[in-house]
Amino acid sequence: MDIPRIFNITESAHRIHNPFTPEKLATLGEALRLEPNIRVLDLGSGSGEMLCTWARDFGIIGTGIDMSQLFFEQAQYRAQELGVADRVKFIHGDAAGYVSEEKVGVAACLGATWIGGGVVGTIKLLARSLRTGGIILIGEPYWLQLPPTEEVAKGCNAGSIADFLMLPDLLASFSDLDYDVVEMVLADQNGWDRYEAAKWLTMRRWLEANPGDELAKEVRAQLTSEPGRYAAYTREYLGWGVFALMAR
Ligand code: SAH
Repeated sequence: MDIPRIFNITESAHRIHNPFTPEKLATLGEALRLEPNIRVLDLGSGSGEMLCTWARDFGIIGTGIDMSQLFFEQAQYRAQELGVADRVKFIHGDAAGYVSEEKVGVAACLGATWIGGGVVGTIKLLARSLRTGGIILIGEPYWLQLPPTEEVAKGCNAGSIADFLMLPDLLASFSDLDYDVVEMVLADQNGWDRYEAAKWLTMRRWLEANPGDELAKEVRAQLTSEPGRYAAYTREYLGWGVFALMAR
């Protein structure tokens, strides 16, 4: 079981697989006023940076589940490296339908809401693992400015304009589900650069090491087109944030 190999190639050197920087992750942890020993569940936990650093900095107890074999291994390595392997557990698997045995104080899905079939389904899935009064974290893109055409939306790697909302509408959509938005931390362009531009050097190095690979042509094409595509579209039109929700 694994995610499409192209992501394991382009994001192999990422610790954080979204437009958050280490500082933003720490800001989020502080914003949530995490208490030691609070349980945190993370669906699509990637390379485990959120759980590992929050275990180190705030003393949380974490469980993460991710479908990428590589990211799962990197998460386990990171837990060892930060000395928190006794506080965080990583599971290699499909997080769709995953409900934790023990209820958690924070249930998160950052940048992987397709796991629950979209934002609404993911909130419902996370709620099944949450203790009363717990916090749900959703990391999701929104439009900084509405794309003038569907072509521009596709340039942002969105399926269509309808895939994302403007920030006020996204916040209102949480309210419509009967959730209070109790905190939010938003990514910025520097964070987007770290997420997107870091892929370019990874791709370049991978191409030099794997010239005969079956994905070499695709990676070559991406490395050529991505800087321009990113600067013209994603960087200008797409925002990203983590929203902390509590049921009313
Ligand atoms: N939350 C992490 C990773 C975000 S990227 C971070 O912020 O760094 C999206 C992640 O979802 C990737 O790690 C990918 O491997 C994982 N993923 C995709 N489909 C999944 C599924 N069905 N179950 C579990 N993980 C999945």
